[in-house]
Amino acid sequence: MKVKMSNLKEIKEEICEVGHRLWQLGFVAANDGNISVKVDEDRYLVTPTGTSKSFLKPNMIILINGKGEIIEREDERYRPSSELPMHMRCYEERDDIKAAVHAHPPVATAFAIAGIPLDSYTMPEAIIFLGSVPIAQYGTPSTQEVPDAVAACLPDHDTMLLENHGALTVGADLITAYYRMETLEHFAKLTYYARQLGGERELSQKQIADCLKLREKFQVPGRHPGYKKYARKG
Ligand SMILES: [Zn+2]
Repeated sequence: MKVKMSNLKEIKEEICEVGHRLWQLGFVAANDGNISVKVDEDRYLVTPTGTSKSFLKPNMIILINGKGEIIEREDERYRPSSELPMHMRCYEERDDIKAAVHAHPPVATAFAIAGIPLDSYTMPEAIIFLGSVPIAQYGTPSTQEVPDAVAACLPDHDTMLLENHGALTVGADLITAYYRMETLEHFAKLTYYARQLGGERELSQKQIADCLKLREKFQVPGRHPGYKKYARKG
């Protein structure tokens, strides 16, 4: 099914809105970060390289195919994000992924730099919407190392830290992927504060299992790493 031009315009506007929010929240500095959306089977909208997300406008968003080739762009000056292979790998690995957001939210990125995964189950929202957050192994930006490291986390995770770099979230739509980025940074802050206060306390196995039941009730799309360990029957 092909998405109509009018819908492409709406998706471009939504990408800009998300870019503006990422910048307002301090999740990206200068030209950091990139956003992509799978429009239909072989068409993707991606943000341009070398552009602040605060200045993002719909005419800067580029339409590409699955090979990363440009199908259409309103302004010839813009080229797709240098992290495009990381985004395309997400869509290759999982059919359910329709959007990906990459940013450097400072507290979550500090955990990524310190090499500390956000893998404790301490608060319901983070358990329900993120699960544990692993660290994808470091790769030199723009190389194949990054997509390979991300691919290793994708079977069980929609949210991950990128070692010594930043964070990546994916979702069944752009807003879901974006909210995961917000939830990640919030959870990273809370974990950091809790550790200043003597350390977080994890919920019990039963409490975690009950959170996972809520996740099912809310019909949260995507993958969750906790099911194998915590999900209970009945
Ligand atoms: Zn980055």
